[in-house]
Amino acid sequence: MDCIFCKIAGHEMAANIVFEDDDVMAFRDINPQAPIHLLIVPKKHLGSIMEINEENGEIINKIIRTAQNLARQNNIDSKGFRLVVNTGNDGGQTVGHLHFHLLGGRFMTWPPG
Ligand code: 5GP
Ligand code: ZN
Repeated sequence: MDCIFCKIAGHEMAANIVFEDDDVMAFRDINPQAPIHLLIVPKKHLGSIMEINEENGEIINKIIRTAQNLARQNNIDSKGFRLVVNTGNDGGQTVGHLHFHLLGGRFMTWPPG
């Protein structure tokens, strides 16, 4: 499949990887929107959050735990951060492989654009 995040997860394409285990990978966003802007993805391809179900839902727990660890490592666990999952066209999703944005290191305004 021609999916850039599958290629990064499979080490076929370069990325600045900050965490990896059997199921999850995290790497720096190529176009960061905050001082800390990481993408956390399941290694197995899922098109969006809408493909999560009872069978595969444990991956969300693993991604959230990874986000917590990365927040601690980047010293933004106390200050705060934003975890974002853009979904579909109106949600602003541009890459069709489920990913969580971990954004921090500055104050985040609300509402988002
Ligand atoms: P979305 O808009 O789908 O929520 O987020 C996709 C994100 O992936 C964007 O923030 C974009 O900068 C990032 N991105 C797109 N292509 C690449 C790439 O090849 N490498 C990395 N590291 N990030 C990418
Ligand atoms: Zn993929």
